[in-house]
Amino acid sequence: MSEASSSKGFGTRAIHAGQAPDPSTGAIMTPIFQSATFAQESPGVFKEDYDYSRASNPTRKALEKNLASLEGAEFGLCFASGVSAEAAVLHLLKTGDHVVLCDDVYGGTNRLFHRVFGQLGIEVTLVDMTDQDAFEAAFCENTKVVWLETPTNPTLKIIDIAKVSEEAHAKGAIVCVDNTFCSPYLQSPLALGADIVCHSTTKYMGGHSDVIGGALLMNDPDLHERLKFIQLSVGAVPGILDCFLLLRSTKTLHVRMQRHSENGMQLARWLEAHPNVERVLYPGLESHPQHALAREQMPNGFGGMITLYVKGGLAKAKSMLEKVQIFTIAESLGGVESLIEHPGIMTHASVPPDQREKLGISDSLVRLSVGIEDVEDLMADLDQSLS
Ligand SMILES: *Cc1c(COP(=O)(O)O)cnc(C)c1O
Repeated sequence: MSEASSSKGFGTRAIHAGQAPDPSTGAIMTPIFQSATFAQESPGVFKEDYDYSRASNPTRKALEKNLASLEGAEFGLCFASGVSAEAAVLHLLKTGDHVVLCDDVYGGTNRLFHRVFGQLGIEVTLVDMTDQDAFEAAFCENTKVVWLETPTNPTLKIIDIAKVSEEAHAKGAIVCVDNTFCSPYLQSPLALGADIVCHSTTKYMGGHSDVIGGALLMNDPDLHERLKFIQLSVGAVPGILDCFLLLRSTKTLHVRMQRHSENGMQLARWLEAHPNVERVLYPGLESHPQHALAREQMPNGFGGMITLYVKGGLAKAKSMLEKVQIFTIAESLGGVESLIEHPGIMTHASVPPDQREKLGISDSLVRLSVGIEDVEDLMADLDQSLS
């Protein structure tokens, strides 16, 4: 199955899409074509589109086809990191263009949009996209892109992708969804009307906390052409070995996401009943304010990200992080191992205190990236850390 055949199931595509046994040797795994350049038969005559690896490379192409297939996209482009994939989309814009950005977006995204592209005269408005009126009011004459993440980070708000896309298209803007928290196994933004899906493949797609990478997936040939030109011209392409590692990772994506979601659901339920926990935010809980929308938009599970408010404020939150034994205190998410972090001190420290307060990022807030260890062990670890 070399084609990204969308008629096959997710697991089959995860394992086979974009990859066939190597024609020259029969190698089952796509080789690591660790070559910067390729021999030409005569000037300008070379195999497929392989003249130089920044432009195209067989290992990277296999990954791009694989990721496109998983997102139900025609085209895929891989980048050196999630933020460089984001930057490629922003390079579509000109000075004076405007972006509507969801308010509790990944910190690095916020920084890139405001402090790098803001300097080039790209205007950005942050808005709570779960608030319909506020969202509509955020549009300007020059709005070209709507950018969102759902669930958001770290408060796990759910944004209605179909509704936002309809609204944005009516106003002449394209929609880019950062699908990093869900992976294509849990959520399909393109099918809901988005124009581009962005991933930090560093997270669930990679799944093993050993690669930094990014990707863009899309159906529109014109958008693909323009973004491919930017990929070639700016050159933030991934290394070939990293492409190989990611191809290996996506083969187990469906199985990992199932276990992340099972563990996430069980831990969220258990934490909600814990006497030392004030409140748990998890899209799979009936208590989540947008649980009904989450069920619709994330039909295959709710993933491994849990946010909780512990009783006892900063002191208690800190002591919880210091006491864990299986969970590791670290930034990042989406790996097979469970991680715990304090957004106020760690991932969201760069968000100004008043904005943190508005977003609900209080001192007692703790974020978990639930891995695929045995859930009983994770429970016991959290229990002793909360006591
Ligand atoms: C990590 C992350 C990014 C940035 O990706 P890098 O691979 O670290 O550059 C973007 N969006 C989300 C939601 C992330 O979690």
